[in-house]
Amino acid sequence: MKVGIPRALLYFKNEKFWTTLFKEMGIEYILSPETNKEIINDGANLAIDETCLPTKILLGSINWLIDKCDYIFIPRIAYAHGQQMCTKFLAQTDLVYNTFRDRNPKLLFYDIDNKKVTAERKAILKMGKFLHIPKNHVKLAYILAKQTQLYYEMFRCESQENVVKNSNKNKILIVAHAYNIKDKYVGEPIIEAVKNLNCEPIIAEYFNAEQCIQASRNVSKTLPWGYNRHLVGAIEMYKDNIDGIILLTTFPCGPDSMVNDMIIRKYKNIPIITLTVDTQDGTAGMQTRLESFVDIINFKKGNL
Ligand code: SF4
Repeated sequence: MKVGIPRALLYFKNEKFWTTLFKEMGIEYILSPETNKEIINDGANLAIDETCLPTKILLGSINWLIDKCDYIFIPRIAYAHGQQMCTKFLAQTDLVYNTFRDRNPKLLFYDIDNKKVTAERKAILKMGKFLHIPKNHVKLAYILAKQTQLYYEMFRCESQENVVKNSNKNKILIVAHAYNIKDKYVGEPIIEAVKNLNCEPIIAEYFNAEQCIQASRNVSKTLPWGYNRHLVGAIEMYKDNIDGIILLTTFPCGPDSMVNDMIIRKYKNIPIITLTVDTQDGTAGMQTRLESFVDIINFKKGNL
């Protein structure tokens, strides 16, 4: 049996967890390719216009995978870190099934539908049962997979904190969801552009999620979406160590449009630029805007 994992959305939050889990359970998997224009166009053709770009990338990635594997892996996750998720993550299993219903897709998923810390483990055990894998085998695979993801995130966070402490360059915090900043088409060109302007890109997503979510309570008591809390909390924690903020979002994202507006009103003393990536233009034309943004930072610091 071969499982297809779309390189989109939650994959970028769980890549080490998922790939270790399948490896340890003895299940073969394939990943869809890095996002490219063909995947975007396929996703856009399959989705309705109002769908956000990351969901279009998901659909395009599944379109690539669907004839190459036995099951498409597409979990339904309502809560992460005890926080509510954007509705897209609750709907994605049904969305995928209905979009591809003419091709009779076989979906593999786990379902997290409550806030309890044990919910994920229970959901994975249930998926293991569906796959006829012995319970103890799944339990062990789950522990190893969680540890692998945890160490990966800890190492990433520590490395970045060292950069924040020690770099003399302008430090630009890029505030973007994991599936945007780590995507080849969406986030990578922005990271490269920041580096080419001799600045240090600092990725909000790479800071510790629990600590950031806690810090986000200084900014808003009511903000509903956990992933946005993570990003807002990163700004709150590192606001005195950064020189500017890029709000990198994808069109049309409801949560980001509200939260980014709040960020702009709250952090008035930090230069902020909003960059929106869409299906048609990608990151074209953003270089000039970033150059002007870095000029503003240098002017503010008296270096221009
Ligand atoms: S938060 Fe925005 S970009 Fe992410 S899945 Fe929801 S609508 Fe799409």
